[in-house]
Amino acid sequence: MPLVKHRKVVMLGYPAVGKSSLAVHFVKGEFPKEYEPTIENTWSKTFVIGNDEFELDVVDTAGQNEYSMIPHAFVFGIHGYIVVYSVGCERSFEIARTLHKYLVDLRGKCLMPIVLVANKSDLPPQRREVRYEEGKKLADSWGAAFMEVSAKNPEDSKMIFTKIIQEIDRVERSFGDE
Ligand code: GDP
Repeated sequence: MPLVKHRKVVMLGYPAVGKSSLAVHFVKGEFPKEYEPTIENTWSKTFVIGNDEFELDVVDTAGQNEYSMIPHAFVFGIHGYIVVYSVGCERSFEIARTLHKYLVDLRGKCLMPIVLVANKSDLPPQRREVRYEEGKKLADSWGAAFMEVSAKNPEDSKMIFTKIIQEIDRVERSFGDE
């Protein structure tokens, strides 16, 4: 039997960008109907990618703004980060930029597995405040993966969590740890 690999990731981003919706859709398989501002929750799910089985813990945070500190609990024992903004909220994009600076301050300028997620891609064009290219450019500047998604789409949340697992493996392999 293959070994189950344990991974722990943290979801960061401005409040109400859809962090919980993405996590809940992935873990429970449905888009949450009610909006409950998250305090902090850890979701766990076991799933398979290729020949490997992963036990993934997802720390869903309350959300950050430019004055929030990232606690040390989000650094030690954390394998990767999913930084989320909403394509309908320019401010949430700026907060994503700030959060990455905080992460670099805390963890040092080493390779860090990150997926930058532009959520709410289902919003109509007139409500869009951040273009795809802006998100992609920011993720490239971090050396991170980028995905534009909608938490309403069942495949999208799965794609994000698969991607972060792959990014963690990619970064670990580049250190020759595995
Ligand atoms: P969080 O505070 O970042 O965890 O955000 P939530 O997941 O609680 O979502 C905040 C609000 O945005 C809720 O009303 C959700 O239904 C809504 N929402 C989340 N994801 C999407 C999405 O992809 N598209 C749209 N249109 N609304 C979304």
